[in-house]
Amino acid sequence: MSDVPKDPCAAAVGAGAVDCTIVLQQLWEYLDSELGADGMHAIRTHLALCSKCYPQYDFEKGFLEAIADCRCTTCAPNDVRCHVIEALRRAGFCPDERAGAVNQ
Ligand SMILES: [Zn+2]
Repeated sequence: MSDVPKDPCAAAVGAGAVDCTIVLQQLWEYLDSELGADGMHAIRTHLALCSKCYPQYDFEKGFLEAIADCRCTTCAPNDVRCHVIEALRRAGFCPDERAGAVNQ
C-alpha cells in the first residue's frame, strides 16, 4: 500500500480513455454535441468517473443554460421597429419592404 493520495482522476483514465486535459479542452464541443460518437462516448464516460472534471462540466453546462434562458423570445413593439427602420432608411439603408415588418 502507498501513502500517496490516489489521483481522483485515475479511475477515469483507462486503456483508450481520454485524460482530464483532453476532456477539459473538448468540453464546449461536447456540450454542443460537436464531437463524433466515439468522442462523445469517451468524454461522457470520463465525466461519469472523474470528480475533477465533472464540476467544470456542470459549470459550463449551467453557463450555457443561463445564456439560453436570457435569449430574447419576443419581438420589439411595432413602433420601436418602425423607428429603427426609419433610422436605417435615413442612414441610406433600404430594409426589405417585403418583410412586412412595418405597418405604416
Ligand atoms: Zn478528469
